[in-house]
Amino acid sequence: MTEKLTLSELLLADPRDPGCRAGLEVIDRYVELELVGKDPAEGFPGLAAHLRACSACRLDHDGILQAARAEA
Ligand SMILES: [Zn+2]
Repeated sequence: MTEKLTLSELLLADPRDPGCRAGLEVIDRYVELELVGKDPAEGFPGLAAHLRACSACRLDHDGILQAARAEA
């Protein structure tokens, strides 16, 4: 399933969105959940919302996830 974001979705601030700094504090644990096949949005709904809204953090997340997968 591909998820395409419209511009309005990108601009829409999610009330659960904790912002970039708060997201990066838990992104390691978020990626760990993904690596073990769990749904990280359950543990970190704020970060999940933020990653949908923030392309910069999504890039960071993708890089961390790739690096973690390469290590595993
Ligand atoms: Zn961000």
